Amino acid sequence: MCIVNREEAVLRELNLYPLWQRRNAVAPAQLAEVVEQKVETASNSNKSREQLISELDWPELKALVRDCTACKLRAGCTQTVFGVGDEKAGWLFVGEGPGADEDALGEPFVGQAGKLLDNMLVAIKLKRGNNVYIANIVKCRPPGNRAPEPGEIATCLPYLQRQIGLIQPKVIVALGKTAATALLGRDAALGSLRGTLHDYKGIPLLITYHPAYLLRSPMEKTKAWQDLCLAVETMKGLN
Ligand code: SF4
Repeated sequence: MCIVNREEAVLRELNLYPLWQRRNAVAPAQLAEVVEQKVETASNSNKSREQLISELDWPELKALVRDCTACKLRAGCTQTVFGVGDEKAGWLFVGEGPGADEDALGEPFVGQAGKLLDNMLVAIKLKRGNNVYIANIVKCRPPGNRAPEPGEIATCLPYLQRQIGLIQPKVIVALGKTAATALLGRDAALGSLRGTLHDYKGIPLLITYHPAYLLRSPMEKTKAWQDLCLAVETMKGLN
């Protein structure tokens, strides 16, 4: 088998193909070379898809997510929504998945819920992009804004896990039940999870309501504020 076909076969096996299929998109030669080397290594060591993703750097990860078709969500969305912010942020906020506005603009939390999140950040003296990174559990918009299915979450989660590995945030705030369940690895009512400190691979994890839920249930904003205060106190305790 020629080298190109072998790489394609390996990428398909790892559910990572197509990697460089975007029409008219030219990958930087150096980046393509690095990914090629990693594919070569993966083919020789039988690495899993998760292992391969866990070794990517930012440009490689972004390129992979941009062209990802690993689950059926990609077929129904406009584009993948990678995440945004300070790539060395102390704070990481994780939502569920892109909505219509995010799908159109390619950035998480840009609609009404995004405005509320920005206000929540301001309330604790933070600002989008400044020591803050914002991402979602799944990178493609679920049709009709339904919740992502467990299989879709499992397929997409390695990307967020690698983002977390690269950012190395000091505190993670999960926004809503989907983010909480995915990061905790267990299902529970959100009301029972908020208000206490959890752990994600050694990083303090706080859980609060998703801003979209707070828009529908403004009475819960007081609880969300309490959760944010706990997050701030947690961060202070680390510094
Ligand atoms: Fe790939 Fe995630 Fe989009 Fe599914 S949701 S196609 S795993 S980027």
